[in-house]
Amino acid sequence: MNSIPFQTLSLRPELQSSIASLGYDSMTPVQAQALPPLLSGEDLIAQAKTGSGKTAAFAIGLLNKLDAQLYCTQALVLCPTRELAEQVAAEIRRLASAIPNVKVLTLCGGRPMGPQLASLQRDPHIVVGTPGRILKHLEKQTLRLDALQTCVLDEADRMLDMGFHDDIMQIIGATPSARQTLLFSATYPDGIKDISGSVQRAPIDIRVE
Ligand code: ADP
Ligand code: MG
Repeated sequence: MNSIPFQTLSLRPELQSSIASLGYDSMTPVQAQALPPLLSGEDLIAQAKTGSGKTAAFAIGLLNKLDAQLYCTQALVLCPTRELAEQVAAEIRRLASAIPNVKVLTLCGGRPMGPQLASLQRDPHIVVGTPGRILKHLEKQTLRLDALQTCVLDEADRMLDMGFHDDIMQIIGATPSARQTLLFSATYPDGIKDISGSVQRAPIDIRVE
């Protein structure tokens, strides 16, 4: 197996150092395929099995272009469950640890609104959450996505199975059309092709066995 080191990518130095401190020396296969187009701003649809390192792939992509001096929400990650959203947020925080002042907020259902509203007093740079609760904040106008640069649908097949299609479409409708949209899925049913067709622009298709 040829393993490609992260150093071959042109990443901001803070990211290279947090990747190294996590002990990730070489890219997993899905990272090696996804990161070059992802870093050049392309939309991406990626299919790879659980545990293949998809989280770090999109986290590195969105963090590489994040401007922490700009106090607005620049990246949104939609996940099917609170547990997954918390895992994704934890991985993003680990990878962001060398970039000063990056604010990552999780917004999930089954959690009280009060603390979420308090955290939203200052716009987070990155929001990770479940579609229902994100939509609720958009409706209450407590979350703004008009400066969003990157939108990630993680475990998109599971979100569709759980009936989140309409919520996802409504959320994406509140984001700028110039955004980068990344779609990650373990399987590739027709629903995924449909949603990709409606929210992505010429996506690069990546499938890893
Ligand atoms: P997926 O979302 O594809 O199911 P995860 O993103 O949760 O998988 O990653 C699974 C595990 O692999 C995590 O514990 C993560 O820390 C680890 N990991 C990710 N990328 C690398 C890498 N390049 N080298 C070593 N471990 C990695
Ligand atoms: Mg995952």
